[in-house]
Amino acid sequence: MKSVIYYGKHNMVLKEVPIPAVSQGEAILEVRSVGVCPTDVKAFFMGSSSVKSPVVLGHEVSGVIHESNTSRLNDGQRVNVAADSPCLQCTVCKKGFQNLCPDMTSLGVNIDGGYSRFMRINKDFVNKGLVYDLNDKISFDEGALIEPVAVSLHCLNLVSWDGIENAVVIGDGPNALIHIQLLKKVKNVENVIVLGLSAERLHMASALGADRTVNVLDGQSDLDMLKGTGVDVIDITIGNREAMIEAKKIVGKGSRVLVFGGSIQDSQLPFTMNELHYDQLTMTGSSGTSIGNYILAADIVNSRIIDLKRLITERFSLSKVHDALVYSREMKGLKCVVNPSTG
Ligand SMILES: [Zn+2]
Ligand SMILES: [Zn+2]
Repeated sequence: MKSVIYYGKHNMVLKEVPIPAVSQGEAILEVRSVGVCPTDVKAFFMGSSSVKSPVVLGHEVSGVIHESNTSRLNDGQRVNVAADSPCLQCTVCKKGFQNLCPDMTSLGVNIDGGYSRFMRINKDFVNKGLVYDLNDKISFDEGALIEPVAVSLHCLNLVSWDGIENAVVIGDGPNALIHIQLLKKVKNVENVIVLGLSAERLHMASALGADRTVNVLDGQSDLDMLKGTGVDVIDITIGNREAMIEAKKIVGKGSRVLVFGGSIQDSQLPFTMNELHYDQLTMTGSSGTSIGNYILAADIVNSRIIDLKRLITERFSLSKVHDALVYSREMKGLKCVVNPSTG
């Protein structure tokens, strides 16, 4: 079978390798769609300390069970495989932070992911139920995006939404477009405002339910309107200091700030202790997702509460994974996927 092996920074090779053997309790997935994630882009162009190469990248995976050696999965079953399997035994997991488990087994990190014609579904994933059915109405491309929905939902579930009237989403990338839809359709936030830099992406944000969009390149006066009363929740979907500086301009009494996007270059927060104290600000980061939020995300995707179809703007074959990573890095469209069965 064809498989794209990652050896490290700028080093990824399409190879012919044997289809993985299936041991007791495991299954083999015929991969149909893999969402291209910024972490894949980062691993290829900048390297990654967490990825244990050589490994196959790709952790947003859907496909069909090709061969099963477990009663839990059947040949021909259409599924999404979760990206991560937390150990559930360590003190971090037991404290309720499965998403931060230091002993995580993760596709494309320490076991092979989806940029491959076939992928082994690890016994641990089978036993923990980390394989989710896709209904017949959902395409494999949509089904692959359960993972980004799950991590987005995890972030939004970290704060209470009771009485929340307005939220500002900073960023207009694919994840932001998922956040916007979850805020409108799942959290029922009355007023969702999006700050971004791309007219095209902001247009899509409006089409997907945003009540107002502000292009920070030309909309400073619009931004000024948000000052004063302050915004209830500020959801930062991009990892850069400028986003946090924008957030600082619009926080008010009791605002909650969510930091969803990881920064390539780390930086100090632009808030003072007293600003935090006197405005009673709540800030939380969010990384990964829990099994519970993954199950909720699978339900949301299967029921088509949110529109993922319009987020997928390009498809690539397995031999074009490099092009897919470039497409994603250059932010040409929105989300792209790799379809390994197309050659
Ligand atoms: Zn991802
Ligand atoms: Zn753990």
